[in-house]
Amino acid sequence: MRWLLLLGLCAALSARATGALEFSLHKLESGLPGPTVLVVGGIQGDEPGGFHAASLLVTDYRVSRGQLWVVPNLNFESIIRRSRGLNGDMNRKFATLASDDPDYHEVERIKALITAPEIDFIINLHDGSGFYRESYFDTLHNPNRWGQSIIIDQEALGTSRFAQVGKFARALAQRVNDHLLTPQHSYRVRNTRTAEGDAEMAKTLTYFAIRNGKPAVGLEASKSLPTRERVYYHLHLLEGLLEQLGVGLQRDFALQPLAIEAQIESDIRLSLFEEKLRLDVATARHRLNYFPMRRGEGMHYLSNNPLVALVPNGDKVRVSYGNRRMTLLQPQFFDYDDSIQQVEMEIDGERRAVSLGATTTVARRFSVHPPAGYRVNVIGWTRPGVDNEAEQLIERAQIPSRFSVDRDGTLYRVELYREERFSGMVLVRFGDEAVGNVSSREDERQAADERS
Ligand SMILES: [Zn+2]
Repeated sequence: MRWLLLLGLCAALSARATGALEFSLHKLESGLPGPTVLVVGGIQGDEPGGFHAASLLVTDYRVSRGQLWVVPNLNFESIIRRSRGLNGDMNRKFATLASDDPDYHEVERIKALITAPEIDFIINLHDGSGFYRESYFDTLHNPNRWGQSIIIDQEALGTSRFAQVGKFARALAQRVNDHLLTPQHSYRVRNTRTAEGDAEMAKTLTYFAIRNGKPAVGLEASKSLPTRERVYYHLHLLEGLLEQLGVGLQRDFALQPLAIEAQIESDIRLSLFEEKLRLDVATARHRLNYFPMRRGEGMHYLSNNPLVALVPNGDKVRVSYGNRRMTLLQPQFFDYDDSIQQVEMEIDGERRAVSLGATTTVARRFSVHPPAGYRVNVIGWTRPGVDNEAEQLIERAQIPSRFSVDRDGTLYRVELYREERFSGMVLVRFGDEAVGNVSSREDERQAADERS
């Protein structure tokens, strides 16, 4: 359901190629007048609360008033490599930066978005250490910590719109403090008074915005909390602040940590070859062998999630999602054949055309009926003397479950080839496991009877 919705929103489908990873911009537009707010996540690669919250804005929210521009993965290479900053702290590169700095290109790109005439307000999402407190309480709760705070560089700006950032921040703290999971998580406003001589803060993204006449705030969740709770606070803060600014948001999941975790952990799609090969990254086995990939340099792929990346890793390809490594593909390289888009299958006695790239559900058995000249390979199914597995009746019990694509052993690969070229893949999902096994055993007995 969500996938179909996302297919309709091209802003949410990221197309990428392996190589240097660059951040993506997702414009969520309501079609109704209202301000345009830029939300940035992942300026430091080891802050999953911030980048998952921004990513959920792209995948699971709709904007009902105004516009949101979301960059969920600003320091994408560092996110994927699980580093705060592969090339040093990106959030200290906004005052001056040498043009040969490895982050120069990405910093220039985000600066251009911040200063774009459309942008009215900028929100930068962080996960900070410990808990910010105005006075020293202990090593985790003191003025040098950043967690659970709303950061402003100064009380007000000279801009015409949204100038009173201090007022916004205090109203926001009050609001989020009504939704604390425990009183220890309470939020504070922290004014860094950057213009009064804070040399470090003067190098940051938000202060670059301020210097360019754009109101900006930083939102910090605490690194002491699990990711689902950091995202919980970030989403509460985002919803509250965007409402204050006049941007309308809609979501269809409950704003509570376990529901948020379920959204983060489900429906992460990857597709190759114009979507004729699709993979559910969330449920994939940790390693998939003989994965058909296109010969030649650079792999182009699509994902419904902006935190997914394919990263070459020796002779294998890693599928990463944010800070996590989801599966390792051992590729087998082919030229791709683009001559067919669907294939005839007989599923539980019924003939139908199945699109390449689709997942089709099978209760008992299936067979594949491609046009002449195509070869079928059902991964894990073998029969002596059978090379082309077209026209064969195939049941779940005949495929060892270690060949499944998913960890639960329900999803199997049906691959099509034309001569030595790969034409596409259908995934077969066997229905209810117990039912499937019972019927398979019955069928085996039947088959044995027929042979004897
Ligand atoms: Zn940070």
